[in-house]
Amino acid sequence: MYKPELEMEPRDRRLERKWAAVRSLLDSAAERSREFKSRLARAGIKAREVRSFADFAHIPPLRKREIIELQAEHGPQWLLGCGLGELRRVYQSPGPIFDPEGAGHDYWGWTEGFWAAGFRPGDLVQMTFSYHLTPAGLMLEEPLREIGCAVIPAGPGNTEVQIELMTRLPVTGFVGMASYLKVIGHKAVQAGFDLRRDFHLRTAFVAAEKLTEALRSEVEQAFGMTVRQGYGTADVGAIAYECGELGGMHVTSRCWVEVCDPETGLPLPAGEVGEVVVTPFTADYPLIRLATGDLSFFKTEPCACGRTSVKLGGVLGRADDTAKVKGQFIYPSQAVEVMAAFPAIKAWQLAVSNPGGRDALTARLAVDRDLDQEAFVRAFQKRLKLRPAVELLAPGDLAPDSPRLVDLRSFQDAG
Ligand SMILES: [Zn+2]
Repeated sequence: MYKPELEMEPRDRRLERKWAAVRSLLDSAAERSREFKSRLARAGIKAREVRSFADFAHIPPLRKREIIELQAEHGPQWLLGCGLGELRRVYQSPGPIFDPEGAGHDYWGWTEGFWAAGFRPGDLVQMTFSYHLTPAGLMLEEPLREIGCAVIPAGPGNTEVQIELMTRLPVTGFVGMASYLKVIGHKAVQAGFDLRRDFHLRTAFVAAEKLTEALRSEVEQAFGMTVRQGYGTADVGAIAYECGELGGMHVTSRCWVEVCDPETGLPLPAGEVGEVVVTPFTADYPLIRLATGDLSFFKTEPCACGRTSVKLGGVLGRADDTAKVKGQFIYPSQAVEVMAAFPAIKAWQLAVSNPGGRDALTARLAVDRDLDQEAFVRAFQKRLKLRPAVELLAPGDLAPDSPRLVDLRSFQDAG
C-alpha cells in the first residue's frame, strides 16, 4: 500500500482524523473563500459552531452548476482559498469551468489509487489523456511520478503511434479510457500484432467513462493484464478507487465523502442510493460539500485487501436523472434491466405526473408486437418498488433518444 498507516487505520481513528481535517478546512475557508462565506451567511451558519459531522451535514451543498455561474459572475478567485497567482496551474474544462490546481504534494490525491491498481516503481507508462487545458493528463501523471514510474506523455489519438510506442518500448502501464485501449488492441491485431507477445502491458488505470465488466474482462483477457478504475472529478481529483479485490471503490484518505438525499442534501444510511457529496482537504480550493451529481451507495463490509475504508458501490447514474415518486427515488438505470427483459419494447420513457396532487408514474412503451402488460408491471414493481400505469405507443411514436425520465408534475396545483 502507498500509505498503509492511513489505508489500514481503524475506522474510529479515521473518523477523528477526517474530522480534524474538515474542521481545519472550515476555519481556513470561512476566512478566505468568498463563496463559502456567503454560502454560510445565506444558511445562517457560523463556521465555528460546526462541531461534528452531523452539524457539517447541514451546510447546503455546492452544485457544479453553481461553480460555473459564480466563476462567470465573480471570476475563479471567488472560490479560492489563496491568490490566483499562488496556484500551481489553472485548467479550463467544458462548461466552461476553471479548474484550479493548488500547491502541495500529491495535490489531486491519486497516488493511493494508482498503487492499489498495481503500478510500481520502474513501470513505463503510456498516458493517453489530454495534457491541454483539461487537467486529466497532468493530474494522472503526478501519481506515476510519485510512485517512481517513467511516463510517455502520448496524449489522446494517433493510434498508430500509440501502437508503435507500445510495441517498440517495454510499456507496462496504460492510463486512459478502457474503450480506447480496446480500440488500440483492435487496430494492433489488424496490423498483424499479437497482443500478448508483442505488447508488455501489465496494468491499466482507466477513468472518464462507465466501465462495464464486459469491457474490463475483454481488455484484460486480450492483453493479459489488470484493469482498474478510479472515480473522481476535474474539480476535486481522487474520490475513490478500486483495489485488487474489486467489488466497489475504496474512498480515499484525502477527502470526506457523503452519500446524500439529492433533495435535502442530508446523508443517507449505508446501502441507500443517493448523490455523492465530496469535501477534498484542499485549502487552496476549498470545495466544501460539492454535490457531484453522481449516484452511488456505501458498502461498509470489510475488504479482503486489508484497506479499512468504506467503498462506493460504483456510479449508478446521475442525480438529475432521478425523481422522487411517492417518497421513493426512481432511477432510469434500474428500469433499463426491466425493459431489456421484454423484447417487444423498442423505446421507452417514464413519465411522472401528479393529477389531483397525487404522484403517478406512467411507463410509456413503444412496442412492435404484443406485450404481456401484467408480467411487465410485475417485473417493474419488483425492481423499482412502484407500480406504473402503462401507455402503449407505436414504435415510431417515441424517438430512441427521448429522455428516459420526464417530470410533468405541477406543484402549484398540488393539493
Ligand atoms: Zn479492497
